Amino acid sequence: MESLDRTSGSGASACPHEPSCPAADELDREAARTVAYHPEQGWSLLCNGIVIFDDTGELLPDGAVIAPHRPTDRTAAA
Ligand SMILES: [Zn+2]
Repeated sequence: MESLDRTSGSGASACPHEPSCPAADELDREAARTVAYHPEQGWSLLCNGIVIFDDTGELLPDGAVIAPHRPTDRTAAA
């Protein structure tokens, strides 16, 4: 195995995972691992710095907001 080179790549987010999580500007950004989950507040923090909300809206690390893009009409009982 080659020695780890932690100085290469984007140093914006310190992703400890292997393979690295997708960056916030990649299409599969939602595939990043959840590092903080707050179901009572309806949001989760992903490893790449994205905050993703229960309604699938997202808040990117640079402050950009992505509107909810998936149907959330889960029929709750009663
Ligand atoms: Zn990660």
